[in-house]
Amino acid sequence: VRIEKKNRRNQDEVGELIDSFNHMTAELEKIDAMRADFVSNVSHEIQSPLTSIKGFTKAIMDDVVPRENQKEYLQIIYQEIERMSRLSDNLLRIASLDSEHHPYNPSSYRLDEQIRNSILTTEPQWNSKNIDIQLDLEPVEIYADKDLMDQVWLNLITNAIKYSNENEIIQIGISIQSGQIKVAVRDYGIGIPKDELASVFGRFYKVDRSRNRSIDGNGLGLSIVKKILTIHKFSIDVESEEDVGSTFTVNIPINQ
Ligand code: ADP
Repeated sequence: VRIEKKNRRNQDEVGELIDSFNHMTAELEKIDAMRADFVSNVSHEIQSPLTSIKGFTKAIMDDVVPRENQKEYLQIIYQEIERMSRLSDNLLRIASLDSEHHPYNPSSYRLDEQIRNSILTTEPQWNSKNIDIQLDLEPVEIYADKDLMDQVWLNLITNAIKYSNENEIIQIGISIQSGQIKVAVRDYGIGIPKDELASVFGRFYKVDRSRNRSIDGNGLGLSIVKKILTIHKFSIDVESEEDVGSTFTVNIPINQ
């Protein structure tokens, strides 16, 4: 809905009202479009695991799968259920972060210890790919919501592992530079094309390339990272080169 100014008198005041009404309408239309987009993305992410779960279950029920292949089918079904479960976890996280009363319980704690813990938590993932994690962590305290920041390190480290090849190294460093604490997570994996760098923090954004089609992901991890950092007034930068690797750097002001 747009109101045309030319049909009105009292150009100044009414004109201003019309401008702000039109502006609000445009904003609401934008929100509507974003909501529709979000719902369609969620549906798409649910549809594809459901289709395989349905197909594989039916095949087993109809006895068209030889006994020796049944386990393989069940493994696929299980993986797809896990995928849906990760999606649901991420959606709940986003809903909670988007709400007006999102969690934010900051305290002072040792950042280097938190990162060491995240590395322990992700050990099964880096171990199974024989990835070597190299640390250079300066002991430093920050004031932040520890649970939320756990999610940030977990998502960045999990991505570094997911998008690395086997037998690679991942470097994680904390340094202090020009009044900021910088946490860099560097991998030597598949990298991100330059023209897609700005988009990777968007919801449901996945760099679509045939070689990483087999990697599980719903394109929500980095948007959650960005949201949590914004809540803290921290920031994140990314540098990457295809087939060379990526570095995600979180910047935390020292005198927060
Ligand atoms: P996903 O769950 O798909 O990994 P993210 O939001 O965490 O979603 O990341 C968005 C996209 O950015 C990924 O699909 C991937 O293509 C790319 N990406 C993220 N981290 C890395 C990385 N360390 N190396 C290469 N590509 C990455």
